[in-house]
Amino acid sequence: MRRLISLVLCVCLLAFPVRGEQEKKYIALTFDDGPSGKYTRRLLEGLEQRDVKATFLLCGYRLEDYPREAERIFRDGHEIGIHGYSHDDMGKMTYAQALDEIKRTAALLPEGCKPVFLRPPGGSLGKGLEQATKAAGLAILNWSVDPRDWATHDAQAVETFVTGTVRDGDVILLHDMCDCSVDAALNIIDRLQAQGFCFVTASELAQLRGVTPEPGKVYNRFV
Ligand SMILES: [Zn+2]
Repeated sequence: MRRLISLVLCVCLLAFPVRGEQEKKYIALTFDDGPSGKYTRRLLEGLEQRDVKATFLLCGYRLEDYPREAERIFRDGHEIGIHGYSHDDMGKMTYAQALDEIKRTAALLPEGCKPVFLRPPGGSLGKGLEQATKAAGLAILNWSVDPRDWATHDAQAVETFVTGTVRDGDVILLHDMCDCSVDAALNIIDRLQAQGFCFVTASELAQLRGVTPEPGKVYNRFV
């Protein structure tokens, strides 16, 4: 019986070779809908402790409430992108409406912050949005891994989904809107770092893969 188990184990190892420690896998954590006061602050502490840089897609109306958190995100070296001013469906907006959302949000960003990406609320796409992002010089960043943290409010489920799904080059969608998402994010980092994953910003991930983000173009992952 023991020999049979050993044989099965060997076959499994041959079929699924373990990647070397030195072979790095790069992924980007992204956080939508903030800044969010205490949740953002707790997340930033955790990211700093783990020496991880992430990407924050910020809403204009929340930047008005939490400018200090936005300053810290920027000062800590994370990437900031635009998530619209009102969090309304930008895919349904006209060119003028979408551009107004972008400009009003950009005006509230920390001084010196030059966003590369916009993520439309819900990932919703449309002609007006495409034209507005082209005019504003922003590429569109959606995602490739969505654990639906905002719906489940279950840190364990989010962690299990992400760690079981993630591949090199993925862009993971999370929200710094509750303690459960912050718990999940920090546990995901701890588990995936131990597996050789490196966490970088979306722009760094693009650069590592030789991609220059083009205004108006949609990106989900970088491989
Ligand atoms: Zn959102």
